[in-house]
Amino acid sequence: MKPAPFAYAKARSVADAIELLASNDARLLAGGQSLIATLNMRLSRPQLIVDINRVPGLDRISFSNGQIEIGALVRYAQAERTAEIAAHAPLIAKALPYIGHPAIRNRGTIGGSIAFGDPAAELPACFVALDGEAIIAGPSGTRVVKADTFYQGLFESALTPRDVLTAVRLPVATSETRTGFAELARRHGDYAMAGLAASARAASKALSNVRLVFFGVGTTPVRARGAEAALAAGDIDAAAKAIATDLDPPDDVQARGVVKRQLAGVLLRRVARQLMGGKEA
Ligand SMILES: Cc1cc2nc3c(=O)[nH]c(=O)nc-3n(C[C@H](O)[C@H](O)[C@H](O)COP(=O)(O)OP(=O)(O)OC[C@H]3O[C@@H](n4cnc5c(N)ncnc54)[C@H](O)[C@@H]3O)c2cc1C
Repeated sequence: MKPAPFAYAKARSVADAIELLASNDARLLAGGQSLIATLNMRLSRPQLIVDINRVPGLDRISFSNGQIEIGALVRYAQAERTAEIAAHAPLIAKALPYIGHPAIRNRGTIGGSIAFGDPAAELPACFVALDGEAIIAGPSGTRVVKADTFYQGLFESALTPRDVLTAVRLPVATSETRTGFAELARRHGDYAMAGLAASARAASKALSNVRLVFFGVGTTPVRARGAEAALAAGDIDAAAKAIATDLDPPDDVQARGVVKRQLAGVLLRRVARQLMGGKEA
């Protein structure tokens, strides 16, 4: 199908983009890897597309106050090639190769994925697992929203239609940081039937600050809080059991909810071993 007619504007700055968004029924265009499909299928019919690809400064990676700041326009492929991401944001580095295929990773952006918030996507779950922050510019200025409150429902987030996500901040990994990632998809590169992104702090042999965030099992990334507590107590079996109450995945085109819950238990054991420094199951 072809999209409904729309006007097109290139934003020259974040302020310009916000102004264009303010006066129109508009959508931002970043990598276009989700937006163009929704336009073509006429799931969305904005009057104006605001292209932010030429906005200077949004593709930077920088550091301050123990955090790594990843600009919204940093493309997946750029992040995959950046040594600082591998060293300081290892969970993101683990997740990136699972996103689609090279052609998609050449265009798709970190900000587009976090902003779009597909519940089966890898990066929104990593963002929550790392307890990140979204930097949002809007008509009333800039605000910072914690990942735990960013996602509010299916494709709903703290972003309003007038906002631009300019960057995400993540804590820089230290020698105590442990991360884990696993997903089960029908073919490599497909959206996952179920996936798990995790982070924790390792103090001697014990884990603390355990954050287990599943994707593909709900309307947003889902924290498994019972399993987090069990893992912090060192009990993998109890963590796997807790999945039954932590998660209530709906049936979808990929699999029935009961299957997804079963897969989540498998993923939990694999990721728990990564967090504990052992081999994957
Ligand atoms: C064949 C195929 C397979 C794919 N497989 C996967 C996969 O396995 N895992 C996965 O995670 N994704 C997958 N994707 C989607 C891909 O990751 C997209 O790149 C991502 O969902 C959106 O990023 P984008 O930069 O392309 O954003 P766009 O498509 O340009 O925008 C998506 C939405 O986010 C909004 N938006 C974008 N940037 C901002 C911003 N800075 N501030 C506010 N709003 C913004 C747009 O207005 C739009 O509504 C796949 C896509 C395709 C076509």
